[in-house]
Amino acid sequence: GPVLGLESSCDETAAAVLAPDGAILAEAVLSQEKEHAVFGGVVPEIAARAHLAALPGLAETVLQRAGLTYGDLGAVAATSGPGLIGGLIVGASFGKGVAIAHGLPFVAVNHLEAHALTARLPGLLEAGAPAFPYLLLLVSGGHCQCVAVEGLGQYRRLGTTLDDAVGEAFDKAAKLMGLPWPGGPHLERLAGVGDARAVPLPRPLFGRPGCDFSFSGLKTAVARALAQGAAREDVAASFQASVAAVLADRAKHALAMVPQATAVVVAGGVAANGAVRTSLAAAAAALGVPMLAPPLRLCTDNAVMVAWAGIERLRAGLTDPMDHNPRPRWPLAELTGAA
Ligand code: ATP
Ligand code: MG
Ligand code: FE
Repeated sequence: GPVLGLESSCDETAAAVLAPDGAILAEAVLSQEKEHAVFGGVVPEIAARAHLAALPGLAETVLQRAGLTYGDLGAVAATSGPGLIGGLIVGASFGKGVAIAHGLPFVAVNHLEAHALTARLPGLLEAGAPAFPYLLLLVSGGHCQCVAVEGLGQYRRLGTTLDDAVGEAFDKAAKLMGLPWPGGPHLERLAGVGDARAVPLPRPLFGRPGCDFSFSGLKTAVARALAQGAAREDVAASFQASVAAVLADRAKHALAMVPQATAVVVAGGVAANGAVRTSLAAAAAALGVPMLAPPLRLCTDNAVMVAWAGIERLRAGLTDPMDHNPRPRWPLAELTGAA
């Protein structure tokens, strides 16, 4: 039967129903952006309460849209980490409740695995689903990693950020420019009317071995440039150019670490950035592999990817016990793809 997916690890409450073959029957995402914007960032306690208030109704909504009831489901998959513990408890407990009430298998989905497997959703990408192994570049507000996706449950983290995640860097730089939170899209718009060459900024770790990231020095340089009176739009353009160049360079290094990689898949909210996409596509093309980006609504946090990861796990015979506890920290490397 169809699989209900639930996502509540950060500031999006999401539910989706997928047919066993991966066809999307219904999906919905409620962003809590407005609740958190006044605080300039995600407030965990507010997030947990908002998930609790919204999730049951959202699950009903997607079932209705799909023309189904709980009794028609074949399984429930809920994000169970990594993320903010309050939201994880809400989603995982609700998911387990549904599973117990209707005698269904439960899959505790790792949020990072869900991002990693999205590109395999049947019919999603024109180029077709990438074959293993492929490189995942996860660039969001909370994550910044290069991952070799070698199979279901088989992930090798090649590099990560030494300080801020790249989306976080966008948000902090935007804040310094007086832009509202989350600042990424605002900064991109401002950068569009600026001159990247007017204010040279550092490109942290560019050209260094490996594929780790670092953005705190860049943020400091942005603060200094602004304090010295540089035009906001020029700083924005230069910041964005620096990030795009660094991400492309890191992706190149990561590709060299996975010579068999069939594609570079990008995920996370920063994948919305035009300059980042262009730069990454060029880097991938230079090494002879395509850059694949799921549609933006599936790059950011959503429940379609959670249901799909659940389906992949169910197909491999992997389910989780009802006493599975959500994990705020849950590195990809700790997963396995075999029962
Ligand atoms: P998680 O990290 O847990 O997946 P998140 O909510 O932090 O969740 P996303 O929702 O995937 O991450 O992405 C949000 C981030 O993406 C924010 O930091 C936002 O500023 C950034 N972002 C969104 N659009 C753009 C853009 N056009 N340019 C740059 N950054 C962007
Ligand atoms: Mg988000
Ligand atoms: Fe995410």
